[in-house]
Amino acid sequence: MTTRRAIFPASFDPIHLGHIDIALRASRLFDEIIVGVYDRPLKHLLFDVEKRVALVEQAFEDVPNIRVARYSGLTVEFARQVGALAIVRGLRVFSDFELEFRMALANKRLAPEIEVVALLASEQHMHLASSTIREIASLGGDISTMVPPHVEETLLAHFRKLGDDAAGSVDMVSFRD
Ligand code: ADP
Repeated sequence: MTTRRAIFPASFDPIHLGHIDIALRASRLFDEIIVGVYDRPLKHLLFDVEKRVALVEQAFEDVPNIRVARYSGLTVEFARQVGALAIVRGLRVFSDFELEFRMALANKRLAPEIEVVALLASEQHMHLASSTIREIASLGGDISTMVPPHVEETLLAHFRKLGDDAAGSVDMVSFRD
């Protein structure tokens, strides 16, 4: 029997509980999920791809049917390379819908054989976004209910170091998603 495999692609800068929830729920619908960490998105990043991959790997180390891979280039090409039949996305609020719908239509034009499966965000994670979490962490806010402990530690260490290096100033960091 062929493996029903899907990818869950994002930049994961950093991974948070909303992403984890989507990947775990998708892992019950498909035989295998490959979480794809997008190498170089067209936006400012806090963490390099090695760090983002390491944080994602640690988040799923106990889940046998979730694997992690880094990729560059078109998401549909990555899906084809790994033999995925679907791309999983999460839908938070109405504003996600327009973007996700546009991306799904573009991907469908590029790769008609690959389906886009969008899972609705869970109520408790609806508000989570990597950009918000980065900003809260940079200002010393509590992110313990938003990210797993290893991501919290990494963010705290990052901003502690930035603070030490710049004597409290973190204005070289951009928080755009
Ligand atoms: P990217 O950097 O690739 O834009 P995002 O974190 O913005 O990454 O989104 C990646 C995918 O995860 C998208 O499909 C997005 O809708 C979904 N996602 C992000 N945050 C949440 C959340 N809190 N709950 C459910 N899905 C989410």
